[in-house]
Amino acid sequence: MRLARATLSLVLFLGLVARAQPAAARGPAATDEGWPWNGRSLDDQRHSPLAQIDTSNVQRLGLAWEFRDFVVRGRTHRGMESNPIVIDGVMYLSGPWGVAYALDARTGRLLWRYDPQADGQYARSACCDVVSRGLAVSQGRVYAASLDGYLTALDARTGRPLWRVDTFVDRHWNYTITGAPYIAGDKVLIGNAGAEMGARGYVSAYDLSTGRLVWRFWTVPGDPKRRPDETPDVTLARRTWASDTRWDLGGGGAVWDSMAFDPTAGLVYIGVGNGDPHPRWLRSPGGGDNLFICSLVALDAATGRLKWYYQEVPGDSWDFDATTPMVLAELTLHGRRRSVIMQAAKDGFFYVLDRRTGELLRADPYTYVNWADGVDLESGRPRISARADYSHGARIVWPSPAGAHGWQPISFDPDTGLIYLPVYEAPIRIHADASAEFLPGYLNQASEGEFPPFTGADAREELRHQPAARVESRLKAWDPVRGCVAWQSSALPFGIGGTLTTAGGLVFQGTADGFLSAYDARTGRVLLHLSTGTAITAAPISYALDHVQYIAVLAGAGGPQGARYAPDVAASRFRNFERLLVFRLDGKPTPLPPPVVPPPLQPTPPAIHAEAAMLAHGEKLFREHCARCHVVGGAFGEFPNLWNLPESTLEAFDAIVRGGAFRYAGMASFADVLSAADVASIEAFIVTDERRRRAGVTAAARPAAP
Ligand code: CA
Repeated sequence: MRLARATLSLVLFLGLVARAQPAAARGPAATDEGWPWNGRSLDDQRHSPLAQIDTSNVQRLGLAWEFRDFVVRGRTHRGMESNPIVIDGVMYLSGPWGVAYALDARTGRLLWRYDPQADGQYARSACCDVVSRGLAVSQGRVYAASLDGYLTALDARTGRPLWRVDTFVDRHWNYTITGAPYIAGDKVLIGNAGAEMGARGYVSAYDLSTGRLVWRFWTVPGDPKRRPDETPDVTLARRTWASDTRWDLGGGGAVWDSMAFDPTAGLVYIGVGNGDPHPRWLRSPGGGDNLFICSLVALDAATGRLKWYYQEVPGDSWDFDATTPMVLAELTLHGRRRSVIMQAAKDGFFYVLDRRTGELLRADPYTYVNWADGVDLESGRPRISARADYSHGARIVWPSPAGAHGWQPISFDPDTGLIYLPVYEAPIRIHADASAEFLPGYLNQASEGEFPPFTGADAREELRHQPAARVESRLKAWDPVRGCVAWQSSALPFGIGGTLTTAGGLVFQGTADGFLSAYDARTGRVLLHLSTGTAITAAPISYALDHVQYIAVLAGAGGPQGARYAPDVAASRFRNFERLLVFRLDGKPTPLPPPVVPPPLQPTPPAIHAEAAMLAHGEKLFREHCARCHVVGGAFGEFPNLWNLPESTLEAFDAIVRGGAFRYAGMASFADVLSAADVASIEAFIVTDERRRRAGVTAAARPAAP
């Protein structure tokens, strides 16, 4: 009895103390803690040791401050795919085009901004929006990369450029930079994108203080008629390419995102992208593994020479880049302590390798996979299935080229021993375009596909032996030691974000429908589902200042899904723009953006008289050049709907398409590949098709005759 009363008094007392304290101090005090590295620590685990926000109080999360003052070119808002870095109370981040920002991490006040003035023409070379996936900070310098290929070292205090280098060796290929620079000891590494468009991949290492090129590693061989092999590593790779290889297509192998560094081993790790074009029979018709496409490659950090490689998808034809984020950890596997490197690859397998030797330790499917019947741990090779061979016709392949997992960062919680992994569960019906011609500045992947639903008797027969075709996402907690799912979320919208884990027992993740969620890291129970009204696909981070823990995340729709907003994403309901959202316990309500206002219906344009051949030519060119951003028939997305253009835009059509009137905003000039007659054909196709579609709608809407 006495004990019970004493306990009750103590509870009341603690309750009073809690209420008497200012909101900021509730919950255990957080020691000041930054986020100094894209993946927080050298092992890129993206796990914060902060625990002020935990499973008991995360529901109290509210907005601390927001920053919206991003560089926007024209009226086109872009995808946000990076995460901030926080050092000594300053937050550094990058936005679209590679613009760098420094903010006061307590208030969001802008300290400086560095705009590299990227050439808008390079938007045409970017397969998937003009995004940036971050920057790097070391020893008082910020390293920022621009879309058009320049790497700049900035004074972290002022944003003043200290040195700037052109990282593109040959501007005839379609290189862009969307990935973050990566620091390995006294060097800064940078790769590039472009393997969907025609490119030969490589990664370069520059001296941190001077910007001098220290080494360069080529991921695929070049045209032997044009130049000798640069290194013995290129010669080694060449043995896996047939003599009839289309060297004029570049080979691919872009290092467009993920890297890692082990200072003890003195190794850097790069993730190498797909071959170019996608179907091997069009790329290297005589066959071969085509090294080092779709491989994890370990290089000597000092020299850039090959130490080991592991090719996940030999001779890939499915766009299974090995570029997804890598995590380093110490794990006990089969009773033995191992220093491992882990990757949840696009191809649907979760790979665990000894990072010193490259020995494959585990390769387990983390989603349904039909291109391979598993991976042989002895040889390291996948058992590739004939089911996914589309050389003789369309096939339904799991996962899709979007990957079972993409660029979105993953996190590893050392307390639970689990990896928290966003997963896309969708197949694609893929077919090759054998008639595809290599054209500079075009998508040259020579493969096309559609997502479910699939129709037709062939598809029904194929699907009889497969799970129900669907397009959905899930957050999965993956046990890398046992090679199995520990828990998974319910189905989420197709666009899901990177993850953060914290010592508060939480997993944070955003989604394209505009929510920031927090899960119990052990059970997967949803503890927070906070509406922001803006798509979140970037990864959250956490830091603490003045004993307050913050969660920060970038928001904004774009990327490959930006051409057409799906009905269940935030951008279909709320105006989409770039935001940085920073949360804390007992913060304010998060303001939702204004609702979407449908663009006004423009008058039907006057008919353009064109022969059928001209219209067909216009449609072909439209699909080759324009359809990647401007959907055939029009759509609501990031870019203007060409099936609803005002008269003034139609009048200026050639000035825009060939004259480059909107080049700054990313609508590049196509004067190098399209003649005035070509542009007239494209315009005739759009206008004629628009008039036809509108007439169809009008006819359907007309009441039936009595
Ligand atoms: Ca790719």
